[in-house]
Amino acid sequence: MQIDWNQLERVLPTVRRPGRYVGGEYNSVVKDWDAASVRVCLAFPDIYDLGMSNLGLAILYDILSALPDALAERAYMPWVDMLAAMRGAGIPLYSLESKRPLADFDIVGFSLPSEQLYTNVLEMLDLAGFPVRAANRDESHPLVIAGGHAAFNPEPMADFVDAFVIGDGEEAAVELVRTYKAVRGEGREAQLRALAHISGVYVPRFYDVHYDVDGTVAAIGPNVPDVSMPVLKRVVSPLPPPPTRLLVPNVDVSHNRAAIEIQRGCTRGCRFCHAGVITRPVRERPVEEVLAALEAILPQTGFEEAGLLSLSSSDYSGIDELVRAIIERFDGQHLSISLPSLRADSFSVGLAEAVAQGRRTGFTFAPEAATERMREAINKPISSEQMLDVAQEVFDLGWRTIKLYFLIGLPGEQMADVQAIADLSQAVWKLGRKAHGRKVQVNVSVNTFIPKPHTPFQWVGMEPAGSVQEKQALLRRALRGRGLKLDYSDSGMALLEAALARGDRRLGAVVQRAWELGARFDAWDEQRDDDAWRRAFEETGLDPGFYAYRERPPEEVFPWEVVSAGVRKAFLLRDYQRSQRGETLVDCREQCHACGVLVVYKDSWSETWRCPQPGSQDLGDL
Ligand code: SF4
Repeated sequence: MQIDWNQLERVLPTVRRPGRYVGGEYNSVVKDWDAASVRVCLAFPDIYDLGMSNLGLAILYDILSALPDALAERAYMPWVDMLAAMRGAGIPLYSLESKRPLADFDIVGFSLPSEQLYTNVLEMLDLAGFPVRAANRDESHPLVIAGGHAAFNPEPMADFVDAFVIGDGEEAAVELVRTYKAVRGEGREAQLRALAHISGVYVPRFYDVHYDVDGTVAAIGPNVPDVSMPVLKRVVSPLPPPPTRLLVPNVDVSHNRAAIEIQRGCTRGCRFCHAGVITRPVRERPVEEVLAALEAILPQTGFEEAGLLSLSSSDYSGIDELVRAIIERFDGQHLSISLPSLRADSFSVGLAEAVAQGRRTGFTFAPEAATERMREAINKPISSEQMLDVAQEVFDLGWRTIKLYFLIGLPGEQMADVQAIADLSQAVWKLGRKAHGRKVQVNVSVNTFIPKPHTPFQWVGMEPAGSVQEKQALLRRALRGRGLKLDYSDSGMALLEAALARGDRRLGAVVQRAWELGARFDAWDEQRDDDAWRRAFEETGLDPGFYAYRERPPEEVFPWEVVSAGVRKAFLLRDYQRSQRGETLVDCREQCHACGVLVVYKDSWSETWRCPQPGSQDLGDL
């Protein structure tokens, strides 16, 4: 039954941006509720303005809406004013399409792009009227599923989610719907047993974790006979066609554009990069398919920007051809092109120049480290001379603003490496100053490195807050003055993110307690409640430093080993050791390093698949 519209109408004028909560977007799909046999609500645990730009959610909305026997609707996390208003008026969390409470759906599917959204998931479950713990829900409640990059360590959310989808969701989502349809009349346990047989699906209640006295994981294993260990990620190959009936947002959102994923995965092998490992191997979308998608999207949406998304745009083999074809085909239509993640080389500057078409906003580089020693350690080798040559080229072509991204706290980093960040940024600024005088602007963004699961740095401990703050102080002193702007991440946020990213199942009690104490919107500095988190750790007797700061020995069993990104642990360990020796690996398009990426991708335990890169080496079973 729909929520009370009159009540909603009374509440909406009292909150900011009421357009976030009314639905009815152009291209939204409202299907006949009674005709659908499986109803899915796709839930995004952050506000509408961010969720509407989430490509994963758009892909699943498109795929599930196209199923004749299913419907898909959406719910986003209400901002704090709307949360209070909904709770005050007794309005449960509802879907934007049919305005039905989430309790009316069969499945609620959360997208989990990052760890800072965990307490928002609990808030949404509670606002929907569900017990937050999976063990306290039964078949009268919707199944709660989650997927996304943070699901590659599902353990801190294992108490709250019935089943996780690990890896690409396009095929798994359809299989989940089909399987649910076949077992919907059965009890929750039987439903989940059926779901656990879908490849890439992890159901935490069917696995036990045992701990050693020192708090590390002794063993993880299934407690039922017929589930997989580890759960291998799903990979779709080739990539299915991109969605073209994109939703047109009601309010101005962070990325209001025709987003098309041109490639998934990355071959560069940067050792700090979580996305680079979990999305291996690279799959490119043909140029013609991207162009056809764009031709379909633009008249249906009126978007004036095309976002060509990938982890490394300049590595897409057809990028030159694609950019030129877009400029030619859409000439005169005022279409701008955005290319995130460009490399610092002349080819990329040429691309940026081609897409700028006179509109030069800002040029972004992500050198991540400023000394060659550190760049070798992270496997992002590029010389400072090359960086400066490229910066010069950018200024010469007319750009006045450059944004530089760095990491501090990388393994083996010394104060001299941090000083080098300031020196390189100053050197870039001086080049800009010569070219453009006082109009130059260099924005330096410095994030604290968090060693993420499944990467070669998963054994490393995060640098303690005290020394990170000393490094930040050095940068603050060195990078001031007109035309230079420094941004850095908050150390409280970094500790929380690291503890949750590297945590085990026991952290569920911390997440729940922090949420009960008022934590939510942890990604928002002005909303994050560090005190609630501190108390939650204290009351549950767990130490965030145990998870975040501790260096782990090579033999340690990681909590996240219950799932596999397909890349061998032995390969990651060898790569970590190479980093300590300052050795780099070439792009695996040039030479395969036998990372072991070998994944089950069909709904079968025996069917395996190998990396499609020419010359890739197949090492057999994981
Ligand atoms: S198998 Fe080889 S080519 Fe494929 S992702 Fe791994 S290293 Fe790269």
